[in-house]
Amino acid sequence: MQTAIAPERKARIDALGYDYGSQPKDAVRACNLCGATVTVTIAHRDRYGYPVTASACPRCGLVWLNPRMTAAAYSRFYDGIYRPLVSAFHGRLIDAMTIQDEQRDYAADRAEMIRPFVQGTGPRTLLDIGGSTGVVAAHFAREFGFATTLIDPAPLEVEQARALGLETITGLVEAHDFGPRRFDAVIVCQTVDHLLDVGGTLRRIHELLTDRGQLFIDIVDFRAAYLRTWSVEDAIKIDHPYYLTQNTMEAYLRRAGFAIAAVDYAADHLHVSYLCRRATPVADALPDPVSVRDLFREIRLVQNAPAGRA
Ligand SMILES: [Zn+2]
Repeated sequence: MQTAIAPERKARIDALGYDYGSQPKDAVRACNLCGATVTVTIAHRDRYGYPVTASACPRCGLVWLNPRMTAAAYSRFYDGIYRPLVSAFHGRLIDAMTIQDEQRDYAADRAEMIRPFVQGTGPRTLLDIGGSTGVVAAHFAREFGFATTLIDPAPLEVEQARALGLETITGLVEAHDFGPRRFDAVIVCQTVDHLLDVGGTLRRIHELLTDRGQLFIDIVDFRAAYLRTWSVEDAIKIDHPYYLTQNTMEAYLRRAGFAIAAVDYAADHLHVSYLCRRATPVADALPDPVSVRDLFREIRLVQNAPAGRA
């Protein structure tokens, strides 16, 4: 349905003075999952009211911002505007300190999901990609005895992680040279939707894992996001270049060489978590065409439901 941004929320966002329209952007013409170049535009603004267009791939159902800010523009975004913007949206302070309580609950919850897969395997190494303040990595290190390395592009958050005694790298996994290092486990928590190249990062993770390595990764389920607000625009936000569903994520994982061992709908009903084992890539894996058709039908239904339907 058509939704409007509440005036108080809009005033808080406007007060930040962030000029999204003038940020440098790149067109992203080819689908990052399947390579198709014909796309369907499904949104013209995001939840903050910024003039964002989102493309959907009619072949596989992947959704992404198009055009999308350049890597340099995203670096500036994460270095100053991201947390204040999310704070303005929610009307409460969210920063590198306050997010740690939420991350502690998340860590405890996710540890229970992975426990059966990692317990009793002896000392092992873990890489946390996009690990933020290190709360999750530190919890996994304590619970399972992992020697843990964290990589994240936000300097203030990496500083918090370093204070927890973790080995830290300030940067992007796509760009960092790990040399011959390999890890027994990689975790990508609440991060994949923020990446600029999901397929490339998953292939990189496949290279960084030992032969029997495991991957934990979770998505914001795009369908859950628009169904809970009954609005496609309100499920889109400039912080997320990508919008994944169970079908597109499962195709991504198979293409990059991951076999899914467990799937978990998080308690918030929004995130979907995957525990995967390293496997042989299936280069042409795609979602079932019926599921793609159903996704587009559902998007049209949500866009055109009368107000009050939700
Ligand atoms: Zn596609």
